[in-house]
Amino acid sequence: MNLSALLQETAKKFSEKPAYYFMGQMSTYAELDDAVQKFASGLEKLGLRQGDHIALLLGNSPHFVISLYGALRLGITVIPVNPIYTADEIGYILKNGDVKAVVALDLAIPLAEKMHSLLPEIKHYIFCETKPDSQIHLEIEKLSVYPKMKSFTNIISSGESSFQGPVLGEEDVAIILYTSGTTGKPKGAMLSHKNLYSNARDVGGYLRINPDDKVVTVLPMFHVFCLTVALNAPLLSGASIVILPKFSPKEVFSLIKDFTATIFAGVPTMYNFLYQYPEGNPADFNSLRLCISGGASLPVALLKNFEKKFNVFISEGYGLSEASPVTCFNPLDRPRKPGSIGTSILRVENKIVDELGQDVPPGHVGELIVRGPNVMKGYYKMPEETAAAIRNGWLHTGDMARMDEEGYFYIVDRKKDLIIVGGYNVYPREVEEVIYNHSDVVEVAVLGVPDPNQGEAVNAYVVSKNPALTKEQVLEYCREHLAKYKVPTTIEFLDELPKNTTGKILRRALKHQLSQKVNH
Ligand code: AMP
Repeated sequence: MNLSALLQETAKKFSEKPAYYFMGQMSTYAELDDAVQKFASGLEKLGLRQGDHIALLLGNSPHFVISLYGALRLGITVIPVNPIYTADEIGYILKNGDVKAVVALDLAIPLAEKMHSLLPEIKHYIFCETKPDSQIHLEIEKLSVYPKMKSFTNIISSGESSFQGPVLGEEDVAIILYTSGTTGKPKGAMLSHKNLYSNARDVGGYLRINPDDKVVTVLPMFHVFCLTVALNAPLLSGASIVILPKFSPKEVFSLIKDFTATIFAGVPTMYNFLYQYPEGNPADFNSLRLCISGGASLPVALLKNFEKKFNVFISEGYGLSEASPVTCFNPLDRPRKPGSIGTSILRVENKIVDELGQDVPPGHVGELIVRGPNVMKGYYKMPEETAAAIRNGWLHTGDMARMDEEGYFYIVDRKKDLIIVGGYNVYPREVEEVIYNHSDVVEVAVLGVPDPNQGEAVNAYVVSKNPALTKEQVLEYCREHLAKYKVPTTIEFLDELPKNTTGKILRRALKHQLSQKVNH
């Protein structure tokens, strides 16, 4: 079994059903699978072979879906890369990932010219056209990278529907995902076909994704949350995906209404933007049977307010790139617990251990470790980092968590974000949860800063929607709800908080930003 063969199976069963909708276009499963066949065949004609590596520098689009499944069908390993990374970041991944071909928008042609001189080992650049061919041709014919360039349309038109791909093993590496991890350069998590299809199927089963579902695919496809939950799981279940290239509350409301979408998957910041959107009409969400949150903790206040305002049900799950990604989800057939990431999904074991690797009893905080068919093969060309992450078959997540008596897990915080105030542990999330409860607060991030007396002090950075809100009022609110040592020493108001492209609030980037401010 492999991801690409599974798509073929679904396409046979649901051939005339819509596989995706994208900006006024619709493709049936039969059409999608035919494009995948042709793309695989076109890549083979270019000279690419099983085991080669191809990078996708693409936003959410049919190009992404076809290139991903097309490359997999030929046994090629796919490396999805955030297209808005800097040239240096992209160059690092292409080099470290031993990439032979790149698929990108024609807008990235200047980048290709740069990479051509830096990385001669890249043999092909495949461009998805956003402009007329004649215009692109004029732009590229004088470039030195020109001989390596092909258009996406040409690859498809040179390919054959009757293409017979090689036999793929389920342990073959399907995707390498570069994650920034805890320290140093990004590491490439190698995910096999089995890692990915088992997680897509198990998540699909847990959330009962079925052919009647229409899933909003607005999370970035290059991120593992989208890949499994909003792409592979629906496409292996015969559901339809409604692709949105970029998140905007206005678009999300009208798209859910127009397509009568049934599932929305997003990160907490998306829920926050939708909640705060003044023109958001709850009736637009009538068709939604399930909202899925993951990627970062969903503040309980936001979960409750959102559900009340829009009359929807949110299930929070948890995952990480190294686990393809999902390990836990709130179940649909048992009580859902706000603030919890739910229970272990099928075939995946989650447990909490102390510093010595010993199991800790329910209710106690320790590191969350994970085992199952979804756990990566390792980091590409990094055996030491792999050995540090996977010990005795268990993936060490670096997240501190606890489990209750009923097997529900609660993420307390990242291990490295722990703040120690005069010997007491303060997890930023706990303080953030309290501040989020204040009705004037839009967003908050809590950081530890050096303190001459206590070792570290707690600082809170707040985005408020009420200009009259004072620091003292926030502090007073914290004093009411938190033990004394957890109450922030300083409250600072900011216009916005730094986030990554998946919408995660970046505490470390904020720390860096603040230290730059101090140094100037
Ligand atoms: P990534 O590999 O980019 O998907 O990031 C994985 C990390 O996101 C995890 O190790 C967690 O720190 C964080 N994360 C994901 N889901 C949740 C969640 N529901 N609650 C808290 N943290 C989460």
